[in-house]
Amino acid sequence: MAIKQTAGRDNLGDLAPVFAHLNDDVLFGEVWSREDSLSLHDRSMITCAALMAQGLFPQLESHMNLAKKNGVTRDEMVELVTHLSFYAGWPKAWSAFGLVRKVYGEDATESAPLHGPFPLGDPADGPNFTGHAWLQMLGNLPAGGAGNVTFERGCYNRWHTHPKGQILLVTAGHGWEQQEGRPARELHAGDVVVCPPNMRHWHGAATDSTMTHIAITPLGDDGSAVDWLEFPDADAYAKLNENN
Ligand code: MN
Repeated sequence: MAIKQTAGRDNLGDLAPVFAHLNDDVLFGEVWSREDSLSLHDRSMITCAALMAQGLFPQLESHMNLAKKNGVTRDEMVELVTHLSFYAGWPKAWSAFGLVRKVYGEDATESAPLHGPFPLGDPADGPNFTGHAWLQMLGNLPAGGAGNVTFERGCYNRWHTHPKGQILLVTAGHGWEQQEGRPARELHAGDVVVCPPNMRHWHGAATDSTMTHIAITPLGDDGSAVDWLEFPDADAYAKLNENN
């Protein structure tokens, strides 16, 4: 997912068109977009580290906002600044923490979770999830598609069915999946769930971890992929996580 960057042209296009071109098309267009070499998440971490080390706080604030979009969590950013306080200087850490508070706010749930090797995608909150979720479609065919779905801690979806079934490939974190009539199954990165056609099931994160899976979902004969039902019992979900 290449970043479409226009900050150079927007701010300096009239004054320094060559610099603007290099910023937008080469730095962001060609270097940042090499996600097969280094993820956007990791590129954001090292960029923020370099900017903090030099005390370039206006640029650090911009890149902290980008880091948040690229899935760097508030906890990770706090750890980055704490670590660098020894290498870059104590006063710089004080200034950087002020920016962490400004960018991430007080609420840890505002930060995007880890999301495995694929992009986090866009918010996919809605009436079928108990909390925040994100979706990045990875590929579509006429008969269905594959999407990277990330659930924040404590977020799970309604009981639902897929007319032609669904395969879930867990890529990060851990969580749960339950098919009707069976106990819930704990999921970790590397686990595979095969859900038969029209089987009632639900899936989501654990209370102490986000979970990301790739969902491969064929379309039914009427073109629909999912039929949403009621939410699982909240107490049963809480108990699953307590006993875990
Ligand atoms: Mn499903």
